Amino acid sequence: MTPLVDVPIAVLDPARFSGTVSAPLYDDFQHAAEQARKLLAGRVVWNINTTAHGGGVAEMLRSLLGYVRGAGIDARWEVITGDSEFFRVTKRIHNNLHGSAGDGGELGGAERAVYNAVLDTNADALRACVRANDVVIVHDPQTAGLIPAIRDIGARVIWRCHVGTDTPNDLVRRAWAFLLPDVVQADAVIFSHSAFAWKGIDEARIHIVAPSIDAFSPKNYELDADTVQLILGAARIVDGGRQGTPSFVRQDGSAARIDSRARIIDDVPIPSGVPVVTQVSRWDRLKDPVGVLQGFVDHVAPRHPTSHLALAGPDVAAVSDDPEGAEVLAEVTESRRGLAEAMRDRVHLLCLPMDDDEVNAVMVNALQRHATVAVQKSLAEGFGLTVAEAMWKGRPVVASRVGGIQDQIVDGVSGLLLDDPTDLRAFGDAVSELLDDPRRAAAMGDSAREQVRELFLGPRHLIQYVDLLNTLP
Ligand code: UDP
Repeated sequence: MTPLVDVPIAVLDPARFSGTVSAPLYDDFQHAAEQARKLLAGRVVWNINTTAHGGGVAEMLRSLLGYVRGAGIDARWEVITGDSEFFRVTKRIHNNLHGSAGDGGELGGAERAVYNAVLDTNADALRACVRANDVVIVHDPQTAGLIPAIRDIGARVIWRCHVGTDTPNDLVRRAWAFLLPDVVQADAVIFSHSAFAWKGIDEARIHIVAPSIDAFSPKNYELDADTVQLILGAARIVDGGRQGTPSFVRQDGSAARIDSRARIIDDVPIPSGVPVVTQVSRWDRLKDPVGVLQGFVDHVAPRHPTSHLALAGPDVAAVSDDPEGAEVLAEVTESRRGLAEAMRDRVHLLCLPMDDDEVNAVMVNALQRHATVAVQKSLAEGFGLTVAEAMWKGRPVVASRVGGIQDQIVDGVSGLLLDDPTDLRAFGDAVSELLDDPRRAAAMGDSAREQVRELFLGPRHLIQYVDLLNTLP
């Protein structure tokens, strides 16, 4: 049995962007698509990562590859298979690349053996399908070890790193040292943010490409206020809201009914009609859900007695490449249970169903639209798709000045940036500022949406990919 799992990609029409992005950008996009079709005739563009569900990379590949296919290019998506030991090691590398110790374990010979064993098996499977001159884009530390095998096949290989830190420490350098012998063999290396670029990689091969969101997917497409309330009511996220049976439109154009509900810790839904501060994230310490909770409780809730906090993330049992998810959810649950009862009822921990990606996505969409203020108080962040998602929905965002988030928000114009994400008072002040001044918040939301339109949708992103392909040997 091959360890590679083929992920189906729905074909999406790139012409949708006409009228959504500016005319000059759309023209450049069409020109880039034309170039790509010529350049890639008879070749396959492979994308390889570790999960088809949950997290930013899967989210981005699903839509981006759909438009690439829609442009007439043979794009494919494969997910590698690994065991729990492999994911323990790669999560450690991931955390180290963010400057954090993670589980505190080593990255030595034993870890190298675990890493190589899984990737060797996956490389064998790649040899059976990838051909010379194909383009293979391998994503994140989990797949970097495939680079030498892909080179041997004679394909072009691009390593795309979605994580990083602005200020590398010894842990970061240790993770670089682990991956570098493989990474230097790639034809090109992509980082999401300029400060993430590693020392030791030929600068000519380094490209900075920010991710993007899909304006037309169930995660981000327009939902009117009524539909938002119906969805959140049906999911039992908001109590006492509109009753009814919501349906939504899938990527393939078909209609679907929402039958599943969110699992809410201790079963306390958000009352309707209250201001809500919302963070949507995987349950990950670097997203600091416990800090968000504490910052809200100490510095927002007392000043805004009707406000509530919603922390939403995937129902963790479903996300197989993220062993820490359940632990982090348990930590936040404990923090919440330690609160006085009146405060506890204002803090909502929402586990969104993962059995249907599009149902999950439309719930995130409704939650982000329902947010009075969206927050992303990450301690480190590769890019932070959730920031662009909330901005596209015209929400005012408070987020940490870390990683790719700082490329998205112009502080004071299209959102508020926190210089020190651990400063809970500053976090509370920023959120309060927006809750206190709805007009300013709305103006920030409007400017946020315009920012995303030109910079963080598919056209800008795909044009950069074509520019990069033009540089390959
Ligand atoms: N997300 C989701 N359901 C959830 C939690 C998160 O679909 O329950 C999505 C979120 O909307 C975003 C992605 O997962 O599209 C997270 O990407 P981001 O870049 O913010 O962080 P990452 O998870 O890659 O660190």
